[in-house]
Amino acid sequence: MTTLTQEKRAELRTLIGEEKVFFRDENKMDTATFLSYGTDRTKVYRPDFEILVFPKNTQEVSKIVKFAYQNDLKIVPSGGRTGYAGGAVAKSGEIVLSLAKMDQVLDFDPFFGSLKVQAGMITKNLHKEAEERGFYFPVDFSSTGSSHIGGNIATNAGGVRVVHYGLIRQWVLGLTVVTGTGDVLEFNGEILKNNTGYDLKHLFIGSEGTLGIITECVLKLTGKPSDHRVLFCAVPDFASILELFKETHRIDVPVLAFEFLTRYCLDKVIDHLHVPDPFPESSPYYVLMEFEITDEREEEKLFSFLETVMEKGFVTDGSLASNSRQAETFWKYREGISESISIDFTVHKNDISLPLRNMNPFLAEMESLLKNEYPGFEIALFGHIGDGNLHLNIVKPKDLTDSDFFSQCKNVDPAMFELLKKYHGSISAEHGIGLLKKDFLHFSRSKVEMEIMGQIKKTLDPKNILNPGKVLP
Ligand SMILES: Cc1cc2nc3c(=O)[nH]c(=O)nc-3n(C[C@H](O)[C@H](O)[C@H](O)COP(=O)(O)OP(=O)(O)OC[C@H]3O[C@@H](n4cnc5c(N)ncnc54)[C@H](O)[C@@H]3O)c2cc1C
Repeated sequence: MTTLTQEKRAELRTLIGEEKVFFRDENKMDTATFLSYGTDRTKVYRPDFEILVFPKNTQEVSKIVKFAYQNDLKIVPSGGRTGYAGGAVAKSGEIVLSLAKMDQVLDFDPFFGSLKVQAGMITKNLHKEAEERGFYFPVDFSSTGSSHIGGNIATNAGGVRVVHYGLIRQWVLGLTVVTGTGDVLEFNGEILKNNTGYDLKHLFIGSEGTLGIITECVLKLTGKPSDHRVLFCAVPDFASILELFKETHRIDVPVLAFEFLTRYCLDKVIDHLHVPDPFPESSPYYVLMEFEITDEREEEKLFSFLETVMEKGFVTDGSLASNSRQAETFWKYREGISESISIDFTVHKNDISLPLRNMNPFLAEMESLLKNEYPGFEIALFGHIGDGNLHLNIVKPKDLTDSDFFSQCKNVDPAMFELLKKYHGSISAEHGIGLLKKDFLHFSRSKVEMEIMGQIKKTLDPKNILNPGKVLP
């Protein structure tokens, strides 16, 4: 546990300003709030740290890292703490460096259509800043009201419109980053063409705070979709979801989102959010599709698409939202799942991806594995299926204690990861590795890749100050 002498405490305060430094034992902040800065949504680890700092700019971040370097301290970068991999957890006396006070717009380029902001800006606020300037920032999902743009970049976040807009990596033009030596790297985001050797900024995107602290970013913006329509469908089996996705390639209307959920998930949302059942008849699977439309002819195309997929038997019932309220309700069925299952149940989360063509055999083997070896385990299965991304959550049976449940899940995971390997999948699609998955990294990365990652880490963070013990085993 880190205990700093009074002298060192005074030094840290002088470096960045007294009001930005909090020590747990000084009770300037209540303990629960203090500890909340060193945790995330995993609920698996207990935070334990003594020092919390709120720098306001890149120079102050650099000073803190240099202070840690000189005094052999470790740092956990803390964003909006909505992560699901334990990446923002400080459980070993690290300094927690929160970016929460770094939320300013720094620049806007109307020619390029880009916005430069500090990394602690809440993602939804970034959406607003873009909209106020007549633009649109497309990375969106249900935790963007709390997540930071820096946290999104550090996890290479995806979300609900990846099928159309891609992951956040595609939208990052420039970054300012503080490395583990306190050096500041600035990757120019003002020019589109810059083929001058290795594009190092990409190393930091998805590095989960292990290579550098992202302090500023330049983001590409786009035009807002002219209008959109949400189609919610009941689907008889998993294979039909994939066929339905194939059919969307045949209609000439851009697909913005293609999400799915099981009846089990829908029931949980209906119970938790008190929303009505969408269709008179129950169905094992549901798909939510969002399309961009520019005129009425395209809306007509969606009605005939629905007719076609019903005739082919891929859909048993479907409804095209007739207004924005109904569209919002349809989205609630999908976006309310995480909250509905996490609050009311104990779940073990897995966020995996695999080629769409391998989904069916993978799920068949996965289901039989659970049925045979873990009878009583139920799966809440949903996700960004258009991206090949499944959120496979195992729900704790009532008669198991939490610790028995989690220790059994530890046995299920490697079996599932073996299957993923067999079907060319990834053990983490968009949530990252953090603490939760680091022991399993070898299922998705070769020995040589992991060695290279270790060498990169040593180069950028020679004293292993930044988020130690995360990502790499
Ligand atoms: C209800 C719900 C739905 C979600 N849906 C999605 C989804 O659809 N798609 C998706 O991708 N994710 C999703 N997530 C996961 C999570 O919201 C994302 O991973 C998000 O990008 C994390 O951002 P954050 O600011 O909360 O990061 P944190 O949780 O604070 O941190 C995540 C990691 O990034 C590091 N970090 C944070 N800020 C910085 C920085 N400035 N510089 C360097 N490292 C930093 C942390 O140390 C940690 O390792 C969801 C989460 C919830 C709770």
